[in-house]
Amino acid sequence: MKPEITLVGAGLVGALTAALLAQRGFAVTAFERRPDPRIHGFVGGRSINLALAERGWHGLRVAGLQDRIGKLAVMMRGRMVHHPDAHTELLRYGRDDSQVIWSVSRGALNMALLDAAEAAGARIHFDQRLDGAEWRTSTLRFVDNTGSWRSHAAPVVIGADGAGSALRAAMSANSNLDERFEPLEHGYKELEIPARDGGGFAIEPNALHIWPRGNYMCIALPNAEGSFTVTLFMPNVGNPGFDTIRTSADARALFARDFADALPLIPDLEKDFAANPTGILGTLYLDRWHLDGRALLIGDAAHAIVPFHGQGMNCGFEDAVELADLLQDAKNDFGTAFAEFQHRRKPNADAIAAMALENYVEMRDSVADARFLLMRALERQLAARKPGHFVPRYWMVTFSRLPYSVAFERGEIQSGILRELTQGKLELAQVDLALADRMIDERLTPLPM
Ligand SMILES: Cc1cc2nc3c(=O)[nH]c(=O)nc-3n(C[C@H](O)[C@H](O)[C@H](O)COP(=O)(O)OP(=O)(O)OC[C@H]3O[C@@H](n4cnc5c(N)ncnc54)[C@H](O)[C@@H]3O)c2cc1C
Repeated sequence: MKPEITLVGAGLVGALTAALLAQRGFAVTAFERRPDPRIHGFVGGRSINLALAERGWHGLRVAGLQDRIGKLAVMMRGRMVHHPDAHTELLRYGRDDSQVIWSVSRGALNMALLDAAEAAGARIHFDQRLDGAEWRTSTLRFVDNTGSWRSHAAPVVIGADGAGSALRAAMSANSNLDERFEPLEHGYKELEIPARDGGGFAIEPNALHIWPRGNYMCIALPNAEGSFTVTLFMPNVGNPGFDTIRTSADARALFARDFADALPLIPDLEKDFAANPTGILGTLYLDRWHLDGRALLIGDAAHAIVPFHGQGMNCGFEDAVELADLLQDAKNDFGTAFAEFQHRRKPNADAIAAMALENYVEMRDSVADARFLLMRALERQLAARKPGHFVPRYWMVTFSRLPYSVAFERGEIQSGILRELTQGKLELAQVDLALADRMIDERLTPLPM
């Protein structure tokens, strides 16, 4: 008999972890603060749709959900850049349609994962918020929305309760996790481009749309039923900033000036701007993810990151698969398995945290910059010239399951090569490709891809 494992949080990462552990024969009991979204609808969620990439798909494949989610996901071939003069251009992510990302509804994904967890035998209790832990007796305390308490004996607990994790707070009360949260000085607001009257997408469906404007930007991801979730990212303080764009009228004026082609597509701009909260963003660093074999944090609870690489959930799904594999082989030695999990995952979480921060500058600013575009064009040429040897960092992060830390390290070397080769150059034809070959051979080893 495998022992019981308690999960706190049945969001994206918690529900996948519950499914994978139950499939491997553990007795899984999960507690989720929200009501069951399959009965009551999906409440909240910080972004309405998400970009799913290879690491995320891998987790779904292992859970047996690839076909179900595949039917709901919308392909995004690249970034559709909307310039201030309203002309657009598609910057492909990959080499062709075999290298794309997918937009998927957070609610639909969560519900599919909950179904998979229950089908595998996990028990999920909804409307149960973790309110504290007594580590001496390994007892967790939950409260429901009527204020009623219940205790739950949990010799082994995994916290997948998100960036504001209550389990993390309870663990910190017991020992120092060396936690720091670095807020980003930018926040976000979600808006919507509805489907056209009579159905259909108002703009190109198979792309992630970006309106880069230097220090701020809008993005839009397609939803399967024809709408787009639009997110405005902007400084908290500045001009424009959430402190100066305060009213619905301010928002309309900003869109009329800077996002003029998007404005007519967002009929409820004023209403949504006033009603939707301004989200905060930041990076969570934690030096200790576990209390010996008793408690472990995964997903955003251990390593929340900024969303600009579209990898938070993808990274969390990778956590879930790695943890399930480790526990399957752990012979119930949870302390060793949790330590090994942190040892393997933390360098990767740190690497994607850094790359996600860098990607914000790239999305809001560099995609409209000539030198950046030259470096990207050269990168693609070198990738075709030296396949498996020079692989764009975005491809390693998004289309492969190479450790993020490897993508980060190689990315630094590659970026140095691209900078040197494009120094003082205006077009691709001026780049010395023989020199490029030599640099790649000297500085990079071929990848086992
Ligand atoms: C604007 C934005 C856009 C994003 N876009 C992408 C993207 O395109 N691609 C991508 O991969 N990632 C994206 N992310 C990141 C992604 O949303 C997170 O990484 C992911 O949701 C983490 O999953 P999680 O299960 O760890 O945490 P969460 O999704 O936060 O789930 C935590 C769960 O725990 C429950 N819970 C919380 N507290 C308690 C408690 N006390 N007791 C019991 N239950 C509790 C919550 O109700 C929730 O169900 C984005 C994030 C943001 C903010």
